[in-house]
Amino acid sequence: MTKVNDNYLKLPGSYLFSTIGKKVREYAAANPDAKILYMGIGDVTQPIAPEVISALHKSVDEMAHAETFKGYAPDLGYEFLRDVIARKDYKDRGCDIAADEIFVSDGAKCDCGNIQEIFSVDNRIAVCDPVYPVYVDSNVMAGRAGTYDAATGRFSNVIYMPCTAENGFAPDLPQEVPDLIYLCFPNNPTGAVVSKARLQEWVDYANRHGSVILYDAAYEAYISEDDIPHSIYECSGANDCAIEFRSFSKTAGFTGLRLGFTVIPKQLKVEGVSLWSLWARRHGTKYNGAPYIIQKAGEACYTEAGRQQIREQIAYYMGNAHHIYNGLKAAGYEVSGGINAPYIWLRTPDGLTSWEFFDRLLTVANVVGTPGSGFGPSGEHYFRLSAFGSRESTIEAVERMKNM
Ligand code: PLP
Repeated sequence: MTKVNDNYLKLPGSYLFSTIGKKVREYAAANPDAKILYMGIGDVTQPIAPEVISALHKSVDEMAHAETFKGYAPDLGYEFLRDVIARKDYKDRGCDIAADEIFVSDGAKCDCGNIQEIFSVDNRIAVCDPVYPVYVDSNVMAGRAGTYDAATGRFSNVIYMPCTAENGFAPDLPQEVPDLIYLCFPNNPTGAVVSKARLQEWVDYANRHGSVILYDAAYEAYISEDDIPHSIYECSGANDCAIEFRSFSKTAGFTGLRLGFTVIPKQLKVEGVSLWSLWARRHGTKYNGAPYIIQKAGEACYTEAGRQQIREQIAYYMGNAHHIYNGLKAAGYEVSGGINAPYIWLRTPDGLTSWEFFDRLLTVANVVGTPGSGFGPSGEHYFRLSAFGSRESTIEAVERMKNM
């Protein structure tokens, strides 16, 4: 008889954003006149930069002619894109990453969800708490997380690294040594970052213990302060212990176009086996490449004009972030994040739980945000607001929250 993968049955409830969507739909149906403002899901709202649009048009036209038509992309991605990434994202920052250590994909979510496949199911993972849910859920599906305890909101075989106000929302090095360590800086959901010296401690820890760091740098483009590393490969020894994920989604508004990449240095080995070769094998078997036209669009992000236009978009979102941060702080909320990341992490007022505050915000201010507890037990009594809305709706949402 057919059996399902019963690891899926261990996943608690539905995916965070489905639950939020359902609550909002129900509220909107019951209150058709409510003007709801969305500061919940981390999707961008600004249109694609003109330089990128022009590259898209050009590459679409190439597809119309036999001489320039492109079929399947090369396994690792087109060289024109991998070369420019290696130069501008890595070499220019002093990182020793070559073009053939870059795997182009259709986004960071698939990559950071799929990467666990190349590791033994016996490995123990460590995650920040709160955390981007994909890291934990993908390990639950693979049978690596153990069983879920509804009372604590934790899986029995996952090492949780609490990120609290006390540690500045950046985890302490775990006492119990994990095999795989998921780190994400700038962080979703808290907006926290770590200094280069602090990240170096993580790299040293991983090398000392033989752990692998899975470093999600999807929000790297939002870093505004000097001492914050843009890549884990800025730390010495990281090529021996770290895999890095990047995304064009938040960097250049590609959430709908879909483009990202994963970096695996060739020297990174586990039990003498090259992780690069395992991921190359996986990529070749299960993935057929991001579209040519999207990779051309990605390349355009690195031209002078493209970079400038993208910087302006990021500055726009960060203007929103500063507005939320300053406005809510002045109104008496306890806020963090929002300086090197497009997320503001706020403590719920009046001791409300995250979901209670979600309901209050939705029904009183008609503003949608994301309950911190949806990202893990240490997110309870916290709430995430995203800066990806328009300036107008951000200003209005903050006004409404001040008057709640
Ligand atoms: N990693 C983090 C931390 C994210 O917050 C997101 C999206 O919200 C992703 C990865 C997914 O990025 P992509 O759109 O490239 O799949």
